[in-house]
Amino acid sequence: METLLRQLPSVDRVLAALQERGALPGTSRELLVATVREVLDEHRAALRAGVLRAVEVDRLVEAVEARVQRDRQPSLRRVLNATGVLLHTNLGRAPLAVEAQAAVVQAAGSCNLELDLASGSRGSRLDHVVGLLRRITGAESAAVVNNNAAAVLLALSALAAGREVVVSRGEQVEIGGSFRMPDVMRAAGVRLVEVGTTNRVRLADYEAALGPDTALLLKVHRSNFRLVGFVSDVPAAELVDLGRRAGIPVVYDLGSGALVDLRARGLPYEPTVQEAVQDGCDLVLFSGDKLLGGPQAGVAVGRGALVDKLRAHPLYRAVRSDKLDLAALEATLRLYLDPEVAWRRVPVLRMLAASGDELRVRAEALARSLSQRGLAADAVPSEAEAGGGSLPGVALASWAVRVRARDVPAHHAASRLRSASPPVLAVVREDAVLLDLRSVLPEDDPVLEASVVGALAEGA
Ligand SMILES: *Cc1c(COP(=O)(O)O)cnc(C)c1O
Repeated sequence: METLLRQLPSVDRVLAALQERGALPGTSRELLVATVREVLDEHRAALRAGVLRAVEVDRLVEAVEARVQRDRQPSLRRVLNATGVLLHTNLGRAPLAVEAQAAVVQAAGSCNLELDLASGSRGSRLDHVVGLLRRITGAESAAVVNNNAAAVLLALSALAAGREVVVSRGEQVEIGGSFRMPDVMRAAGVRLVEVGTTNRVRLADYEAALGPDTALLLKVHRSNFRLVGFVSDVPAAELVDLGRRAGIPVVYDLGSGALVDLRARGLPYEPTVQEAVQDGCDLVLFSGDKLLGGPQAGVAVGRGALVDKLRAHPLYRAVRSDKLDLAALEATLRLYLDPEVAWRRVPVLRMLAASGDELRVRAEALARSLSQRGLAADAVPSEAEAGGGSLPGVALASWAVRVRARDVPAHHAASRLRSASPPVLAVVREDAVLLDLRSVLPEDDPVLEASVVGALAEGA
């Protein structure tokens, strides 16, 4: 053991070997020395543990090289989402429209975030989006914060702290992460008054729960699950009637926040923000990066007096949006000024609207190209989903390319795809890799092909 350890080369010797190989030009000496030490330490530990039985200087030098190359890569990178889950939380949810990406680049330097260019006086960062949100949703006023979880927390804190909020038991959702409605209520200092049963709630249940301490009636979209069977619900409009009679505002946490009617493209019904506003909800809260297809954001639209309370609350400053998100949101919202443009330009809507025929033709073309590169690939029907707490339980008919890499188990092929450039996220099914094309934009098909060939083709 001691003799083995003594055979470990010195830092200088490894550095010299690296120089001889002409490896890593442009890397600072400090970084090289630190990496060499790191790798030497690991080798020493491996020798002590008996995992490594000999010192191989070449392998050590290669390890240093690989480590420096890896550390040069940015950690947060573009990936190709071939999972068939359109809004994949682990993959950054909604991909931004080209227009929104350009707006982010524009705003990245100095920008007129809180400056009115006409007068030269101070403006509000929300000025860039409030007008658009009013026009698109029909609401009186709007505010935007970091995400919808923050919007819910802010709305409850600003409108109901120390008082009661009435919610249906069937709407006590957990969104994921640690966002559970009852916990959020507690965090906001609100007393939760549950009404109805898990599967049924009636207007009379809400009515009976009203008291002198009731601050709000809250409706929550069941974003990630469905109730089927013996169920009943109170529509927003009826809740609004009750609220009006009792003089209590109605807040609707809509979750997904669709700004177009999905039925226009043969998709299932999903309540839109416009409908919730038209139904008379006093405040409607929704995410920017779900069905809206923009950046991470929490949007609140509704009555001016309520929105003003949100904007004046101390929490607002803690959860407000940054310039990059606001730039992306403004550019995305502009596309919605004409719903037809939104369907053509917003990636999530394009993915949702893609027809089975389009997807099949793309899958067949990709399968053919991959076959020509020696891969066993064919086009197969598949099922995609909206994901990200949108359209729960709705299977979207889709097409995928099924790839079998020779001599490589599917999970190994999937792992190779994850280290491709750009990385490809696929699904493993029945010992094959499935590349679902509904979550890939057509203009990315050539990139997907190159990545898959690079990762899996013979000689790769
Ligand atoms: C997704 C969702 C949230 C949380 O929104 P984020 O933008 O992810 O913070 C809150 N409420 C509902 C009903 C949701 O669907």
